[in-house]
Amino acid sequence: VKHVDVAIIGAGSAGLSARREVARTTDNYVVIDDGPLGTTCARVGCMPSKVLIQVADDFHRRHSLAQEGIAGGDQLSVDKAAVMDHVRALRDRFVKAVRSDMAQWTETHLIPKRARLKSLNEIDLGDESIRADRIIIATGSRPIIPQAWQQFGDRLIDTDRLFELKTLPDRLAVVGLGVIGLELGQALARLGIEVHGFTMDPALGGLTDPSLQDYMGELVSQEFPITFQAVDRIEPTAEGLAVTAGGHTVTVDAVFTAMGRRPNTDRLGLEDLALPRDEQQKLVVNPGTFRIGDSPLYLAGDAHGERPILHEASDEGRIAGYNAVNDDHCFQRRTKLSITFSSPNIAVIGRSHRELTQSQMDFVTGRVSYEGQGRAIVKLAEKGELHVYVDRKNGSILGAELIAPQGEHIAHLLAWAIAARINVFEALSLPFYHPVLEEGLRTALRDAAAQVEGDRPPLEVLRCQDPPVGSWAKTEAQS
Ligand SMILES: Cc1cc2nc3c(=O)[nH]c(=O)nc-3n(C[C@H](O)[C@H](O)[C@H](O)COP(=O)(O)OP(=O)(O)OC[C@H]3O[C@@H](n4cnc5c(N)ncnc54)[C@H](O)[C@@H]3O)c2cc1C
Repeated sequence: VKHVDVAIIGAGSAGLSARREVARTTDNYVVIDDGPLGTTCARVGCMPSKVLIQVADDFHRRHSLAQEGIAGGDQLSVDKAAVMDHVRALRDRFVKAVRSDMAQWTETHLIPKRARLKSLNEIDLGDESIRADRIIIATGSRPIIPQAWQQFGDRLIDTDRLFELKTLPDRLAVVGLGVIGLELGQALARLGIEVHGFTMDPALGGLTDPSLQDYMGELVSQEFPITFQAVDRIEPTAEGLAVTAGGHTVTVDAVFTAMGRRPNTDRLGLEDLALPRDEQQKLVVNPGTFRIGDSPLYLAGDAHGERPILHEASDEGRIAGYNAVNDDHCFQRRTKLSITFSSPNIAVIGRSHRELTQSQMDFVTGRVSYEGQGRAIVKLAEKGELHVYVDRKNGSILGAELIAPQGEHIAHLLAWAIAARINVFEALSLPFYHPVLEEGLRTALRDAAAQVEGDRPPLEVLRCQDPPVGSWAKTEAQS
């Protein structure tokens, strides 16, 4: 039985970050992955989805051209097969880049086999076993598909299959309108596919603020119909698949399932090991070290599943890798930031409306509508609303949810402000160019600042005697 210091199961974004950290300290490690290699993000996730969305948004722009005096927009058409070729061509570039980064170590350290744990220190690889002092589980996740729907074969599309399609179906039911379903459902509708959306969760694109959920629901319904009910049944008919939800039936050529993803921890033999679990039978993972209890196992990335997005998977892998070869260190998490690349973009930053409400935080909401916002008018993109949540007592920025044109950028400003612990008055003293979409953020901050209790600076600009931006957090911490 081969013995290594560290074994990493999964060569996705989390596993690759873990490997980089481990390799700084020891060469006696293995990475186990039975493929396909190239990471979920580059192969079937973040990257190909963004290419498809880009094409769809570019095509959608034709509706605004006549208003701008540009003729011929209504003559444009989509060649679906060519779109899919383009998606795959760029996808292949991203995958190639990931794989060429891996090339220096795969020959010596990669074992292309499926792993299963025999014990806390031993991994079964079918025809051999590996003993490891530490094991990092970074096995990712897979789309959730109800067993009863498996019979529909090719008519059932998930994100593992979507980007492989030679062309796109004419009529599609999209089941689930969280981040992935909303982004891709809208893109497919914009490419001219007859899309029918189904969801039982009002949290479109991950929004938790009820008024923003309603706003987005109305906006998206202008592009494709949404049934806010669970799908009761799908039946094959002569014309395709009949999808029924809440007594409403539509016939489509295929069903795109976007009902969430399940961590790949159920096929690893973990259930047979003595590992700590909570009341819901979830593994107890230290959120600062990513170690499972005091076992030699670490869990990172989508396999952990608390923050199933790319930069968090990389962080978790990096922390687990570092800790596997050093004494366990506790690391802080970054300020939460999640973006849905719908149009307009959706983002949830810091503490969500739901988190603040559930923890009974005393907060005010600063609001702005992008309908009538100067630069949004120029862009013919006057849709959206931004809510920033601020501590009523001290003006600290707690979180935000937004639907905004190019909101991905505004979301970063907010995440950085929250991370730097800049309060609402300090944020207002920072520069806002004119005319930019960020001026909308300033309006929302002003609205929030007006509701904060207590003293406030006389003007938004700092006085000569005022401490520099960023000092407030230190003063608050001292008092
Ligand atoms: C359509 C879509 C769009 C997305 N868009 C975004 C986005 O815009 N932004 C963003 O931040 N995130 C996005 N994500 C999420 C992001 O892709 C994931 O959070 C991230 O890729 C997770 O990385 P990971 O390392 O945990 O898993 P993965 O990259 O899936 O790696 C897991 C690896 O483990 C291997 N494996 C599994 N089980 C075993 C086993 N038993 N033995 C050996 N090997 C095994 C697999 O082969 C795989 O290579 C998107 C996801 C999808 C599906």
